[in-house]
Amino acid sequence: MKIYNTLTKKKEEFIPLEKNTIKMYVCGPTVYNYIHIGNARPYIIFDTVRRYFEYKGYEVKYVQNFTDIDDKIIKKANEENKTAMEIAEKYIAEALKDAEGLNVKKATVHPRVTQEIPEIIAMIEKLIKKGFAYEVEGTVYFDTQAFKSYGKLSHKNQEDLEAGARIEINENKKHPMDFVLWKPKKEGEPFWESPWGDGRPGWHIECSAMAKKYLGDTIDIHAGGEDLIFPHHENEIAQSEAANGKPFVRYWMHNGFINVDNKKMSKSKGNFFTLREVAEEFPYEVIRFFMLSAHYRSPINFSRQLMESAQSSLERIKNAVLNLDHIINHADKDDMLEEEISLIDKIESFVKKFEEAMEDDFNTADAISVIFELVRFTNIHANSKSSKKFALTIKEKIINLCNILGLLEKEEENIIDKEIEELINKRQKARKEKNWALADKIRDDLKERGIILEDTPQGVKWKRI
Ligand code: AMP
Ligand code: ZN
Repeated sequence: MKIYNTLTKKKEEFIPLEKNTIKMYVCGPTVYNYIHIGNARPYIIFDTVRRYFEYKGYEVKYVQNFTDIDDKIIKKANEENKTAMEIAEKYIAEALKDAEGLNVKKATVHPRVTQEIPEIIAMIEKLIKKGFAYEVEGTVYFDTQAFKSYGKLSHKNQEDLEAGARIEINENKKHPMDFVLWKPKKEGEPFWESPWGDGRPGWHIECSAMAKKYLGDTIDIHAGGEDLIFPHHENEIAQSEAANGKPFVRYWMHNGFINVDNKKMSKSKGNFFTLREVAEEFPYEVIRFFMLSAHYRSPINFSRQLMESAQSSLERIKNAVLNLDHIINHADKDDMLEEEISLIDKIESFVKKFEEAMEDDFNTADAISVIFELVRFTNIHANSKSSKKFALTIKEKIINLCNILGLLEKEEENIIDKEIEELINKRQKARKEKNWALADKIRDDLKERGIILEDTPQGVKWKRI
């Protein structure tokens, strides 16, 4: 499997540190608002990466943090006369609801900064002790000049870095690029005790401390949107490698932006749509499909037109599955016909092609094209003369491939429900025609699948056992 590594700017063969387990850290949102559709991109993309690894048999330890203390959260709390904690709690719950809607699996751990302060303090202490950080009047800075490879992820040299650093007038810093690890408390703000006085952590140190605590000193994959490359991830490398004395991350993955009119969608620019707003018009599943239709590193323009086209594409897949269901329920023959057996290799070749696309740096756009090839194959080869087994085989393939991308999972349940209803109708018809043998067979077949039928005066009811 090949993954594009931002650190080396190359597609590299992926070799995990351990044989069966993959350690992945994905930077999560700062929780002071509903997540916008740009934030949803890394959610969906890296959940799909995780699902693919799981499909290949790996156990994935997946950590995604919530930044639950930050200037923007405090500002919002003041505006709404609430505590920062209340604001964070509310938007964490909302973000988790959105993730569930998008069919993003829960992380193995969702750590929050405010619950990891001792680990953060311990890491800062270590950095000071090792000569990589210094304190001035209650603020602790990371000394970028002490970390020789600073700039290696963003591929910036010293000059670029200096030009890029927002040079604040701050006489306490030894160098303009040095960044804050700990800042002293301000009136009315939440704070924690520390060796440098009451205060709170800077943003970057949280991810270094949490990655170490939950995954160890060296991890396989660290991911986020490309805006995080500099300074956030550059600073994470500096902190972690300086403190732990070991390489921090083996593969850095970054998704491209969601743009509106070719400009990055962001909360601060105000050109954003919350996921909630979009989900009122389009099902979450269409949003997921839309994101996966492009390569994760390419920018995508967000527009209603593209969403509509994603919706109709997804419908085409679902219709193919519904047609197959109809064939399954009405097939005359159970076992595969000879000409169908000769097509099995072709069906398997779609799976192989899908895997090849995914293993080429998670090319979900190509993987989806393969699903459409399978849909076209279905439309050509599956019809009322097909056997039940043949239709079932194709249906399972389509559903399995979609499931790897986190699509059609709920559909499967709907489809099963529809199928059960159809079988119940068939049984009713058989009973009317006094075809007791067929009626009993349908009942027994359903029972074998864990479905119990109950004949009531209001009609037939069914339940799962
Ligand atoms: P934030 O809450 O801004 O820290 O962002 C949370 C995640 O969303 C980070 O991984 C960001 O890189 C990512 N992100 C923010 N805006 C966009 C965008 N317009 N397109 C793609 N990813 C984004
Ligand atoms: Zn982070």
